[in-house]
Amino acid sequence: MTMICVGIGIGASHSIAMGKAYLLTRRGYRATPRWVRQDEVEAEIQRYQQALEAARQHLKSVRGQIPESIASDITEFIDTHLLMMEDSALIDAPIALIREQYCGAEWALQIRRDALVRVFDEMDDPYLSTRKNDVDHVVHQIQKILFNHEQAQEENLEKRVVLAPDLTPADTILMRHQGIAAFVTEYGSPMSHTAILARSLGIPAVVGVRNVTRFHRHGEQLVVDGERGVVIADADEQILAHFRRRIAEQQAHAATLRRLTDQPAISIDGQSVSLMANIELPEDIETTRSNGAGGVGLYRTEFLYMNRHSAPDEEEHLRTYLAVVQGLGGIPVTIRTLDLGADKQVDGGCPVLSPPPCNPALGLRAIRLCLKEPDLFKPQLRAILRASAYGPVRIMIPMLSNLDELHKARRIIEETKRELSSEGISFDPDIPIGGMIEVPAAALSATSFARNLDFLSIGTNDLIQYTLAIDRVDDQVNYLFDPLHPSVLRLIKMTIDAAHAAAIPVSMCGEMAGDPRYTRLLLGMGLRTFSMQPDALLDIKNIVRSSDIRQLSRQAAELFRTLDNGDVGQMLEKINVG
Ligand code: PEP
Ligand code: MG
Repeated sequence: MTMICVGIGIGASHSIAMGKAYLLTRRGYRATPRWVRQDEVEAEIQRYQQALEAARQHLKSVRGQIPESIASDITEFIDTHLLMMEDSALIDAPIALIREQYCGAEWALQIRRDALVRVFDEMDDPYLSTRKNDVDHVVHQIQKILFNHEQAQEENLEKRVVLAPDLTPADTILMRHQGIAAFVTEYGSPMSHTAILARSLGIPAVVGVRNVTRFHRHGEQLVVDGERGVVIADADEQILAHFRRRIAEQQAHAATLRRLTDQPAISIDGQSVSLMANIELPEDIETTRSNGAGGVGLYRTEFLYMNRHSAPDEEEHLRTYLAVVQGLGGIPVTIRTLDLGADKQVDGGCPVLSPPPCNPALGLRAIRLCLKEPDLFKPQLRAILRASAYGPVRIMIPMLSNLDELHKARRIIEETKRELSSEGISFDPDIPIGGMIEVPAAALSATSFARNLDFLSIGTNDLIQYTLAIDRVDDQVNYLFDPLHPSVLRLIKMTIDAAHAAAIPVSMCGEMAGDPRYTRLLLGMGLRTFSMQPDALLDIKNIVRSSDIRQLSRQAAELFRTLDNGDVGQMLEKINVG
């Protein structure tokens, strides 16, 4: 009978991938129970012996590199460890466990290590009890080789399924360049920036699979279902056939949608809807164009600060923005000023963020950071303004929570414009300035924001996080992340209504905008501009083209009348079936 190992987490993207595991573990090597089949025993013993020999060779070469002049206690220390590697406690005993009990090599070594440490722990002699550190040191050396045996020989991530405790957005970008097939993390949630990036880059991903780095081995064949949040090892032919079928279905669906690329996003009752793209990397330009986006509703600029040791200067900002503006061939681009902090940390790229704050989501992020650090803000503003001379560009300010922040930001923008004018540098003097409504306070004051801005954009990822007090990166509270919560729906509605009353455009650029489950409800609530990962555009267009917005408006009004008494999920189902 074949044993199939299944890990359940949260799907973070909609695609499926198959590939060999690449274990990226940053903690110590502690093996957990694993057994091999009877016919694998001899190979497993050989694997253990090879690891032991490799660990010995490594120690010998370290010893050989120590100059004679160095104190002898270091060489003694190494000699002790070499002797331990020749002791039957670490040679014969683990091999016996593999042979007799079918333990996997790492697990057999772990059992022996724990038994030895228990003996040392029971000794009263303080000298002898410190020897357990030596045991740990030696065991660690061998485990490192066992865990990473294949990895040590092959550092190529191409087509691999990366298994890691967690990944930062910067890791994700790097790995994408290395051609990974998918990733699975133990922590994290679908609303984290890492997961958003995975969707936008088309990387299949599952997050929140506890212990995934412990229960899977490097090189193991895995299936990753980013839609259902499942990771499967040792899948049999029947299961593999199922996933191949699903991949084919997804491809067929995408091919059908492709036909809509040049069709307008107009509803059955003739209302026009604007569908825009969220972008962050240069490669998104291509998918934005190929999916027929009407513009970029959110250009996240944080990637510019990742995987580097210093912040980009004005010229680098400018080069990047010009490549986007020109690459998009004249459609409007909404550049969001930097939103670093919270889940968008960078490694060393931005010294002002260290030491890490204790509650980053409520700390110095986004516009708060920019106002505190004008030296970080100004080069970006200058570059955005300069890029506006080459095509339709809009500035968008993230995470506004009060009008004072907006006024301060505006003053800095005006000052920057004056500087550019005095230097004779061109820019669009009427560049639209918009703000993200992603903090409940801003949504509740949307009327004032709408009077002071040229456009609003609803950031539901943060709006939901802050309204419902759920950390968007914490998979343990992810089940509470609910776009249909009455409070969230009210805040969205207030923002749309406030923008309409002030006669300014309003869009939504949070993940909710690209989720087909909510399109009809949002249309009914009055939203006419949606900005999303480029891959979602055609799906949403398909829904728009089959919707009667007049009817949806009536249904949404009914939903709002019974918001606190009715079952919102059930009402949404009714809206979605038409
Ligand atoms: C949001 O918060 O909804 C949003 C679009 O911004 P980000 O996900 O980059 O925080
Ligand atoms: Mg946000």
